[in-house]
Amino acid sequence: MQATPQDSTAGHYQGNVDAGEVAKFEALASRWWDPQGEFKPLHEINPLRLDFIDARAGLAGKKVLDVGCGGGILSESMANRGAKVTGIDLGEAPLAVARLHAEERGVEIDYQHISVEAMAAQKPGFYDAVTCMEMLEHVPDPASVIRACSALVRPGGFVFFSTLNRTAKSYAFAILGAEYVLRLLPRGTHNYAKFIRPSEMAAWSRDSGLEVREQTGLTYNPLTRHYRLVSHDVSVNYMMYCRKVSD
Ligand code: SAH
Repeated sequence: MQATPQDSTAGHYQGNVDAGEVAKFEALASRWWDPQGEFKPLHEINPLRLDFIDARAGLAGKKVLDVGCGGGILSESMANRGAKVTGIDLGEAPLAVARLHAEERGVEIDYQHISVEAMAAQKPGFYDAVTCMEMLEHVPDPASVIRACSALVRPGGFVFFSTLNRTAKSYAFAILGAEYVLRLLPRGTHNYAKFIRPSEMAAWSRDSGLEVREQTGLTYNPLTRHYRLVSHDVSVNYMMYCRKVSD
């Protein structure tokens, strides 16, 4: 029998989740906040994506849902900009780390173990903004996540996605470079077949009632070892900014 979304609270959710993918993040969870550890790339891109989101959504005072929040790097930084943040993930260990870290820092965030689809059934149109970063390439049905994100945001609300493009360059950088040569990420972190082209992400977004406003690349320079936003180069990691169509 197919599990219902409500089963997520029992930790047995069998819907749109790849248990093996979540297990990878559970195993690494204790190192989430080590800026030199396996999640170093997330720490490095965080100021860039935070500023991108804040400049468009104006985070202060906004109700924001962070989907696939992991250990809370983005959630916490958005809360520090004055947003009222809810973070959801299907990994228990990353959520435990996120809760502990927020408590230590005195940051108030509502972290919940629930699927985005179940959340969409509970709180349609509730959020001013929804963020879903570096998560879509780990789920069996990314279009379902995009539909749920769209359902969760109010008309005119802001939705931000990021993922890895499916190009020869992303294979070279994100898998060969990051996992094998530079060892920035553990081997097996990413699966090339799950990478998503901007055209696919845009089509799923439009089909979900979102208007695609902007896309920008997050490019890594292996020589300087720094990331920056490059609007015209979405060939590896990129973000997409959408607004919910108001009818
Ligand atoms: N968004 C965070 C973490 C990215 S790591 C950031 O960018 O900083 C990817 C996260 O997606 C992990 O925490 C993993 O547990 C989560 N994840 C994977 N599949 C998921 C699913 N089906 N539903 C919710 N979260 C999922």
